[in-house]
Amino acid sequence: MNSISVENEKQGCSSAVKLQSGWNRPGVCGLDNSGNSCYLNAVLQCLCSSVPLVEHLLNQDTRNELGRSKCRVAGMFVRLLEEMWLGRSSSCAPVEARSVLCSILPQFNNYSQQDAQELLLFLLNALHDDLKKVAKRQMHSSRRQPRQDQNSNCASAAGESSTIVSHLFEGQLGYMTLCMHCNHQTHSTQTFTVLSLPIPTDIIKCSIQDCLSLFFEQTILTRGEQMLCSVCGMRRETAVRTCLDKPPEILMLHLKRFGCKGKNQVKLRTNVVFSMRLNLSPFLSSSVQNTSYSSYRLYAVVNHTGHLHMGHYTALCHNALTQTWHCFDDSAIREVPDSLVQSPNAYVLLYSRKRFQKPKIHGL
Ligand SMILES: [Zn+2]
Repeated sequence: MNSISVENEKQGCSSAVKLQSGWNRPGVCGLDNSGNSCYLNAVLQCLCSSVPLVEHLLNQDTRNELGRSKCRVAGMFVRLLEEMWLGRSSSCAPVEARSVLCSILPQFNNYSQQDAQELLLFLLNALHDDLKKVAKRQMHSSRRQPRQDQNSNCASAAGESSTIVSHLFEGQLGYMTLCMHCNHQTHSTQTFTVLSLPIPTDIIKCSIQDCLSLFFEQTILTRGEQMLCSVCGMRRETAVRTCLDKPPEILMLHLKRFGCKGKNQVKLRTNVVFSMRLNLSPFLSSSVQNTSYSSYRLYAVVNHTGHLHMGHYTALCHNALTQTWHCFDDSAIREVPDSLVQSPNAYVLLYSRKRFQKPKIHGL
């Protein structure tokens, strides 16, 4: 099993109060560990507390539509969310989630630990693909039977390639390149789901703003990295500036704790300090600078304790109904005060631009 160092345990959940049984906390549901699956459980908890995603997937129309289609990942996820939000149980076993993942991804089939951030991306991509299929079906059927109420939430006016997943989690980075010889500028963009932030090395403590500054800092490409300048007609030293062209509704930040020191793989234990609010305005491109985009609220954290290959994942999630934080350590749940959310174990942070309201879920 996974080891949890005593030292880290102290910083995590130990000072919190163990919750009583006799359960009536929708969305607060532990997940049994089926053998090294803490990384899966931690990721599922974060998605389970992403209220707009949950509301969309547990919407009656979406449920009906998914029931008719062969969307394994979305179907599995909806059934799990139903259990976690409507099941009235303090824990459940994500058996189907695991078996679906194993059938799609061979690397999940053994009992070794996987990276939570990679799994989070994989799950969101698979969910997005499934929902695209559903949207396509809806478009086809609505063309055959024109209806008055085209308020269907999957096939929106944004087209078949947009889903609730891309709507919530996708942002856009802008890259401005400058030829250092002739000052010729170019601009390109790239969509992203997670920002993987470097951690400043050789210090024991820094802030999340420091990591963001490092990510967005201007870089000069020299030697082998020089870019081809269309005006000069040759490779030149190039300055590259990155900024946020489109901040996402939900911002996911991944701290690059697993890196290399020489030939050795290491885990960086730098205490990256963060608070409940995050201001992104220093990193926005000028076109979105004056909008209300820049302020985010923290609502979930994936923590990693222990070593590089022998660690343990837990999740801290804010519940929109109780307005309190809970620590999910597989099937064990503890309520934690806001002051204990920040810890040196943070690995993935999830922020929302809007404060989550009480979830509107049929049957809640
Ligand atoms: Zn040039």
